[in-house]
Parts: sequence; C-alpha cells; structure tokens
Amino acid sequence: MKVHDFISKMYINGQWVNANDGSTFDVLNPSNGDKVGEVANGDRNDAQKAIHAARHAFDRWSCLTAYQRSEYLYKAYQLMMEHREHLARVMTEEQGKPLKASRGEIQYGADFLLWYAEEAKRIYGETIPAPRSDQRFIVLRQPVGVVAAITPWNYPMSMITRKVAPALAAGCTVVLKPSEATPLCAVEIFKIFEKAGIPAGVVNLVTASDPAPIGETFITNPLVRKITFTGSTEVGKILAKKAAEQVKHVSLELGGHAPFIVFDDADPVYAAKGAVLIKFLNTGQACISPNRIFVHRSIVDPFIKEFKNRVSGMRAGSGFENGVSIGPLVNSAALEKVERQVADALDKGATLVCGGHRLMDNNLDKGYFYAPTVLNDVTPEMLIYRQETFGPVAPIIAFDTQEEVLEMANDTIYGLAAYVYTPNLSRAMRMFEGLRFGIIGINDINPTAAAAPFGGMKESGLGREGGREGIAEYLETKLGGFSV
Ligand code: NAD
Repeated sequence: MKVHDFISKMYINGQWVNANDGSTFDVLNPSNGDKVGEVANGDRNDAQKAIHAARHAFDRWSCLTAYQRSEYLYKAYQLMMEHREHLARVMTEEQGKPLKASRGEIQYGADFLLWYAEEAKRIYGETIPAPRSDQRFIVLRQPVGVVAAITPWNYPMSMITRKVAPALAAGCTVVLKPSEATPLCAVEIFKIFEKAGIPAGVVNLVTASDPAPIGETFITNPLVRKITFTGSTEVGKILAKKAAEQVKHVSLELGGHAPFIVFDDADPVYAAKGAVLIKFLNTGQACISPNRIFVHRSIVDPFIKEFKNRVSGMRAGSGFENGVSIGPLVNSAALEKVERQVADALDKGATLVCGGHRLMDNNLDKGYFYAPTVLNDVTPEMLIYRQETFGPVAPIIAFDTQEEVLEMANDTIYGLAAYVYTPNLSRAMRMFEGLRFGIIGINDINPTAAAAPFGGMKESGLGREGGREGIAEYLETKLGGFSV
C-alpha cells in the first residue's frame, strides 16, 4: 500500500507549500523498505517563513477568548476521532507498529486535544495580599509567544498533539518539525488542524530530511520564545545549550532507562504478564520501556518461566497482519544498537533465555526486525545495564533486599519511568517516594493519560506534558503592582 501518490507538502501560513528549493525526500516503510511517500524537504528559509507566519498570527490568536481557542481544539478532537481509522493506517504504514497499537495512539493523541480544549478555560490568575494598604497585586498568566516544537518517530501523532494542544490552548502559535522518519503522520495531523479551521499561521509544519539546520534556525531566531523537544537526551542537550544563548524557555522529554522491580511478595505470573506487555510495547521503542527488570532472587525462576512463555507466543511482522505484536525497529542503526548490546551482554556472562538474533524468515529480512529477547544474569558491567536500548530486549537482574534494589534502580543518569510490583502498601509507598523518576507505576504498567503529568527527572528531561502542568509550560507569569 502506498499512502500518498503525490508529494506531501509543508503547511506554512495556512498554505500547503513545496520546499523553498523544490527538493523532496522519500519515506520508507521500516517493515519492508517500500517507499510509502515523498515529502517536501524544507530548509532554513522554509523554517524562517514558518516562524514569521507564527509570529504574525500570534497577536490575533493570543487575543481570542479562551472559549474561542477551546472551540478549535474541540473541533480538531472530533475530526481526529472521525478519521481515526485512516490515521491509524497511515501510522502503521509509515512507522510499522501493529494497527491495534496505532488505533490506541490515535485515541491517546486525540485525548490531548480534548483535555486542553477544556484546560484553555482554566488559565487562572491570582490576587495576592500586598504589603501596603494603598497597593494591590494581581498576577496574570500570558502565552510565552512563538513555540518551536520538535517531535520523534516512535509516537508520531500523539507526540505532536501533546505539544500543540496545550500551546494553542495557552494562546501560543507553533512551528513544528516532525521526525524525518515519520513526516506523513505529521502531514495528516496538520490536515486535521486545517479542517478544524485553525487560522492561518497559528500552526505551521516544516518537514526536512536533515533536522540540524531547521533546529538551528528555531534556536537562533529571536522570534521563537520557547523550544519544546521530545527525543534523545543527546540532541536535547545540544538544543538546551544553544537555547540558553537567548534565554528561551525549554521543555525536554528525553530518554529513559526504566527499572521494573518485582518483590518476593508479588505474584510472579501477574508481574511477568505486566512486564512483557510494557517491555515489548512498540517493540521496546518507548521512552517508558523497562530497561532493567529487577526480580527478587527467590522468584526469578517462576518469573522467567512465565515471561519466556509469553515472549515465545509473540509474532513479528507487518502491522497490518492479524496477531502481530512485534513491529520493526526504525532503521538499521537501531538494529545495530540492539545487536551490539546483546553481544556485549553475552560476552560478559549474561544468559540467553530466548531470542538474541535478527528475524530473517518470511521476508522479514526486508525490514528491521529483531526477535523479542530475554537475557538473565545481567550485571552492571554490561552496556545494557547503563544504556537505553530502545528495542525488544528484556534484561533480568536478581536482587536480595529493598535497600539494594532501590539503590540499583536509582543508579542511572535517567529518571523517566519506574515500575514496582508488590502487594505491601508500606513497601510500595517507600519505593514511590524513594525512586528518582518522574512516573512510577505501582502494580500498574500504564500510568499515563492526557490528564496526568508526564516527564522525567535528571537527564530524562525538564518540564511536564499532559495534565495541569502541561499548559503551564506555555505560560509566563506577570505581576501587576497597582498603587491605588
Ligand atoms: P532523536 O533525538 O534522534 O530525534 C528526535 C527529533 O529530533 C527528530 O525530530 C529529529 O529529526 C530531531 N533532531 C535530531 N537531531 C537534531 C538536531 N541536531 N537539531 C534539531 N533536531 C534534531 O530521537 P529519536 O530517535 O527520534 O527518538 C528516540 C528518543 O526519544 C529516545 O531516546 C526516547 O527515549 C526519546 N523519547 C522520549 C519521550 C519522552 O516523552 N520522554 C517520548 C518519546 C521518545
């Protein structure tokens, strides 16, 4: 299936336009290498045009009432739900995830439009008792201005709405650059914005095969007042450093290295079921994916037995086939990273429970498929113990005490998600408080929703998306002191 027969254009100032120099780039399906579309290859000039359009549109958009902005977002939510099936098919074609997972992502992505359609009406100010009797203090919350957003390929639609919805609700205008691996998903979301009647210049899309010049234009143009980025910690640091030169606002959703902790009082079968579901979600290509599975030594055997059983039943292939739960990795570099980490772990003494190789049969060699893999006896010397894998590999580590596992879990530069399995309330509370991560699932593998703050500590990021916190990222606080 080819999603588009024509060149997909960029969306700047309410117009679908070709790149400044007319160039394009191909988009390939990671399941089989087939070309699924061709997209405008924007450059610095295109990025500048988009920024100017957003700045021009800002004055009007920020002066609309919250109720008016809310209407646009609500309309976009309705359209996204109406076109759910089409959007899911584009996502599976371009990104490779199973259709069921794509449908789930469309719902998650649409939820941000609905949630922020509502939150737009709750941007409250404050009055503060002043120190003088002839003085009054009033606090206003105003939009930061033009926002430049950069999004990844692993959740190619919901990562867009998670940024754009709160930004628009706050009264900001946006220029967005999606990942070069999934620009068609972005084009489809922008068609929804267009259909919702969002005024020209309020949302702008710049697609490009080389992200660096676009990112640099966003960072160096003083009209951009905020950078919001989801992607690797490495790129996040580059952007944050440069953004500091103009003291721009920065929000970063970066890498993760989630611990998944199973105590001896947990049911190993129930815990293994949860661990498999979250580990292999999106083929391990999720920032909240468990990357170190700590299991109490006394229940390692029953845990691994159940875990292996479930993993063995997983089928890899095209996301359009029924029963497929493992999609491809995004590209050859991702595949090589997984191969390198597994080889290193085996070399240093890990035990291979299952998997451990590329999948080649049934035409899978045309895509970037890797067998769901389980490693036992993983130790701190191994690369996989320290590095984010972003692939379908589950490393298992035995532990003995609560203090020991808390220390091991926190021993990472990352701090996004963590999971704990125990029926003991006091232990659960101590772990919830002691883990240095932004999102903790207690006997729960899905602690995410549009209404809940999502984000990391340490090198996993700055700021939060979703919930009440998500809109605050796009607002400035202004104090008025009145002499009366
Ligand atoms: P990436 O950093 O390579 O790319 C992310 C985005 O940044 C893409 O749009 C890419 O084109 C752009 N980019 C790359 N180099 C750039 C540069 N020099 N200047 C400007 N933009 C540039 O990451 P990825 O491989 O697309 O995504 C995977 C990473 O994202 C993982 O580390 C994952 O944990 C993280 N992630 C985090 C969250 C979160 O919410 N914390 C969510 C999804 C993914």
